[in-house]
Amino acid sequence: MSAISTIEWTDATWNPVRGCTKISPGCKHCYAETFAERFRGVPGHPYEQGFDLRIVPEKLADPLKWASPKTIFVNSMSDLFQTGVPDAYVEQVVRVMEMANWHTYQVLTKRPERMRELLSARLLFAAKSKHIWWGVSVEDRKYGLPRIDELREAPAAVRFLSIEPLLEDLGTINLKGIHWVIVGGESGLGARPMDEAWVLNIKRQCAAAKVPLFFKQWGGIQKSKAGRLLQGITYDDMPMKQAQKPPTILRRKSMIAEVNGWIGEPLFA
Ligand code: SF4
Repeated sequence: MSAISTIEWTDATWNPVRGCTKISPGCKHCYAETFAERFRGVPGHPYEQGFDLRIVPEKLADPLKWASPKTIFVNSMSDLFQTGVPDAYVEQVVRVMEMANWHTYQVLTKRPERMRELLSARLLFAAKSKHIWWGVSVEDRKYGLPRIDELREAPAAVRFLSIEPLLEDLGTINLKGIHWVIVGGESGLGARPMDEAWVLNIKRQCAAAKVPLFFKQWGGIQKSKAGRLLQGITYDDMPMKQAQKPPTILRRKSMIAEVNGWIGEPLFA
């Protein structure tokens, strides 16, 4: 777990899975891939295997070790719902989120079909938890908008959209059953430009549907220079956090021991 994240809409990141494969145009300049591949072949480095998919069971217990409540972006360096991640492992990640319920979790995917299927069955125990927010990435009309329909069908208490990098005008978006929208432009070398009119279209629809909006950034090569003001205003809204009070140290230690005990189970043999 990284105690501090530079991502504007979260506090920390937790990566019990590392690595991913590209699936749609939003992945073109995947920051996680760029970061991970820098360390391919570096002995002992967490990304020694570059961006190859790897489950990391020794990271499972991390949220339980963190005593003070945080907002945690789950798998900032991966996608929990890739086919290569076993169902049993996805369940263990979600079980940790249920145990460490003094944090708020943000689970973001570009594979909402599997997320919906699992939330309707194996992960149903977590579907009603308001401290776990389930989201999809939406970069364009072709790949992004259908993900919103899948998300809406998932029996989740809190659903959100990460509309980043916004690559075109999305037209009309069905925001029914959606509780939060993040919007942002692409940053870094080769960043694809984002038109203000596309953002204003989303802002208008969020206001009409009373959905909180978080405008993350304009992006570009110098994202700090471009900033995150939209018509002179900072949009920082998000759903109300509904996490529980942290338990005693003794209780946390016992939960950590329980989760570390899973490492020896057949899934990881
Ligand atoms: S789904 Fe996310 S983590 Fe995976 S390649 Fe695409 S942008 Fe990167």
